[in-house]
Amino acid sequence: MEQSLTPKELGQLNEKIAQYKEHGFPTTVSLDEKLKNLNEQQKIVFNALVDAIGLEKGIQRNALKKGTYGWSVIENVRLHIQRVILVGFDDLEIIQKYMVAYGAIPDPEESWKYYFLPNGKDYACWECHSEIMAQEQIISIHDGPFPLSGSGRTERKVIPYCPKCEDIPSSSGVRRVDPNQELIEEIARLQGKQN
Ligand SMILES: [Zn+2]
Repeated sequence: MEQSLTPKELGQLNEKIAQYKEHGFPTTVSLDEKLKNLNEQQKIVFNALVDAIGLEKGIQRNALKKGTYGWSVIENVRLHIQRVILVGFDDLEIIQKYMVAYGAIPDPEESWKYYFLPNGKDYACWECHSEIMAQEQIISIHDGPFPLSGSGRTERKVIPYCPKCEDIPSSSGVRRVDPNQELIEEIARLQGKQN
């Protein structure tokens, strides 16, 4: 099974991704409508995706380990989703849904930087394919009336980063909470309780 796009195809896919970032995904058409108007190349590429998905039957994505047969089956589906995007299937709702879930394009929720690995849980870097690491950060909350004053509350947050392209995020941080804002939130919370 092939596993990745040619450099030329990757360049074209990156142009598509730049368009999605800027203008959002294309307006969708129905599958029926789409299948009525396919050219020869589109038929070949779409049938290859259908075949790739056929091999996925019975594979539990979330239990997959790197280097296994199942892992390569999902990577193969990912490749064929990328190919159908390139020949103009990105106006199908189902393709728009699966292109992020299968890592065919980077996840907009992760600032378009990381894509899903075959297990559908972990991410890799779109630029260098390194597996994304997570740094736990302890945030101290400064919620007192003066700068750097407050109750000493902390929050934990997990910050993803690429070990090759990005610096390791700091293990601590500060979040300044406006006391007024906090009061507003507290009142809103109390009102919510009364309803
Ligand atoms: Zn990277």
